[in-house]
Amino acid sequence: MKISKVETFLVRWGDLARPAESVLGSTAATAVVAVHADGMVGLGEASPMQGGVASLQVIAREMAPSLIGADGLDHAVTLDRLLHRLIKLGPDGIVTGALAALDIALWDLKGKAFGQPIHKLLGGAWRTRIPFYASIGGNAARDVDGVLRTVEARLKAEQPSAIKIRWDGTRGEIDRDIAGDIAKARAVRKLVGDGFPLAFDANNRYSVGAAIRVGRVLEELGFAWFEEPVESYHVKAMGEVAQRLDITVSAGEQSYTLQSVAALIESGVRMVQPDIVKMGGVTGLMQCAALCHAHGVEFVPHQTQPAIGNAANLHVLSTVMHATRPAELADGWARAADTFVDAPKPDGGCLVVPQGPGLGLAIDQAMLARRRLDVTG
Ligand code: CA
Repeated sequence: MKISKVETFLVRWGDLARPAESVLGSTAATAVVAVHADGMVGLGEASPMQGGVASLQVIAREMAPSLIGADGLDHAVTLDRLLHRLIKLGPDGIVTGALAALDIALWDLKGKAFGQPIHKLLGGAWRTRIPFYASIGGNAARDVDGVLRTVEARLKAEQPSAIKIRWDGTRGEIDRDIAGDIAKARAVRKLVGDGFPLAFDANNRYSVGAAIRVGRVLEELGFAWFEEPVESYHVKAMGEVAQRLDITVSAGEQSYTLQSVAALIESGVRMVQPDIVKMGGVTGLMQCAALCHAHGVEFVPHQTQPAIGNAANLHVLSTVMHATRPAELADGWARAADTFVDAPKPDGGCLVVPQGPGLGLAIDQAMLARRRLDVTG
């Protein structure tokens, strides 16, 4: 399976009247790589951080020349070579996002070549319907009523199996409104009732002491997990919070290598959340799943992307024997319908794992042509 062409481009979401410049570096687009071989095309996407443009540039300039002419079936060897050749560009971020995109594209291609969905090539699915949770962002900026209205709307529209309230807020600012955060958590618990699974995502906005105070309240309120209570780069602090609380503390969406996921586990974190568009794509996530299985740690991937990332994540999740939590479905998933004909969407509290070859995604080619934005020249 000889790779003949590697394309990189953004796919715009939403209003096409919006000026192209305003889409660059925003979350209004997805950073896509398309790998061609033997008349087939495999699609992948890079981490959306700053629009993913930097990862696309690294693919176009530094990676594509090594891929042309390579056998697509040798893809793990090819990508490992590229990681080590470019490692001084930074293994955390742009390069790993680029490699994740290529890995997903090459699995899509491989699935198309064999006429099988990715999960079959990975060893088969334990389940083809995966419960999802609605991941609801932006709650630091809302008052209690605003949080409740937002949660109610998502409950009604999506009928999720669980809900995660994310704080987001200003990066670098910590312990801003602990009492207010607790009030919002209490109000949401009251709204959904005692039995409904809830999670709380601090998005790294607490000190260790504040995290433990908030965590104790979340335990009392029966929250299922407490996500990223402290700064992601303070790995020991994350482990300290995890070990001092009874509630499950999770982290790992900002881990880009297997080694950094291992460091989190060593620190005491017992639920890790690597992201398929950052952490090695399908191959990297399967390695994380094995690492978690070896350590008895919960493997619950982070996932924010509407179409390619979501589908790739579902293929991996379907193969995991011990799936302990629902899959993440973040705000904005409906964008997928702008370009993809049958991207997974909520269906009775679940997402259905695609069964077509590769990722199993079908593209509206006419719409793709209108929404494509070339950024790498
Ligand atoms: Ca998070």
